Order: sequence, then structure tokens, then C-alpha cells
Amino acid sequence: MSEQGTLYTLGYAHPETARQVQEVMSDERALLVDIRLSPYSKWAATWNKAALCSVYGSRYVWDRRLGNVNYAHREQGIQLAPGHEDAVREVASWLREGRPVVLLCACRDARTCHRSLVAKLVQIALLEREDHYPGLLARYRGDEVPPVILPEAWPGMQWFSVALWTRWPDLLAEHHGYILGKSAFNAIENMMRYYRLSSVARAAAHTLDGSLFYRCARPWVMLDRSEEDGEA
Ligand SMILES: [Zn+2]
Repeated sequence: MSEQGTLYTLGYAHPETARQVQEVMSDERALLVDIRLSPYSKWAATWNKAALCSVYGSRYVWDRRLGNVNYAHREQGIQLAPGHEDAVREVASWLREGRPVVLLCACRDARTCHRSLVAKLVQIALLEREDHYPGLLARYRGDEVPPVILPEAWPGMQWFSVALWTRWPDLLAEHHGYILGKSAFNAIENMMRYYRLSSVARAAAHTLDGSLFYRCARPWVMLDRSEEDGEA
């Protein structure tokens, strides 16, 4: 089996990006995946779809499904285009084949660009086995997007896979998904708040690399008014 390919995220508004893209793409297995909603630049013709196609041929892929439909309205947050779950799995499968992949956007700052979210979803897809909890990525669709999915905005947090049981014993956890937390217990609390549950029968959380597994009985959280009203 070949070694997993490296995932890069680059924004061409940064002056170093042209050189970095060239460097990565000098590996003839590398793919340049354009994740802009619209693959055109108003100010740099070299970053238009046609120009990139002529340089990299079929190794340049524009995938609109990974675009941010709110890119012109940043205050509305990041919303990936329909079908992004499949597109994320596709990127993950290229990496599994050992191909380096560049996720390309325009933004200079990765911390506020949707490419960081796409990269995070790809990492999650790589960590999950295909037959393991299918459909979990669907949680990121539409209105179900929890406000905590942007890791850069919450320093000191990491991703956890969390399961909540409202009844115990019960074979299947009622709620299950990925969420950020400062610790395993904090991730459970965040998940309970997300589902507006002040207490559950059982909860379990593990880090995505499996280095930590945590479970507890009867955790409870206070749900206060400001959360209910959705104040930032
Ligand atoms: Zn961007």
C-alpha cells in the first residue's frame, strides 16, 4: 500500500502561493483542486480556470461542491455547496492513493477561509473507516451546522467524536457526531448544548486519532437563556 498523500491548503492572494503551487505540482501525481465557488479571478488572470487548465491539464480539478456559497457574505458564516460530502470523500480517496492534493482558494488568510474547514472534513473522512458510522459527515449539512465547526476560531480546542445515549442500556447512541471541545468532557457538554439536552443517561467521547477514550454516566449541563436566544 502506498503512503498517504499530503494535503496542502493555499490561497493565491498570498505572494508565496504561486511558487508553492509550482513546487507541489512538480510531483506529477499531485492534484490542484480549485475549491472556489467561481474559478475566476478579477485581478490575476493566471488564476483563472482556463489558465490553470492549460498549465496542469487533467491534474487541475475545479470542484464547485467544495465552494463556500456564502463567500460574498462572510457575516453569514461558511456554508459548503450541495454535494460537498461526496467531494470531500473524493479528495480523501486521492490522498489514500498517495497523491498530494492542493486545496486552492483565493483568500490570503487560511484562518478565515473555508479551505481550512474543507481540510478538516477531509481529515475526518480519512480517519473514519468507510463502514464506520456512515453518514456522519451529513451532520455538517445546511441548518444542522453547529456554530463550533470552525477550529481556527476556538484556540485550544480539538475535535472529538461524541455519542450521547438518552436511554441506557441501548444499543445505539441517539446522537452521534463530531464536535470541538477543550477536553473530552467539554466536547460532551458542547454536544449536549447543541442538542439542547440538559442531561443524558450515558455519554462517550474519543479523540479522532483514538489516543483518548472517555465515557461517563448521567452527565448534565445548565442550558441558559443566552444559549437559547443564540447570542454570540
Ligand atoms: Zn477562501
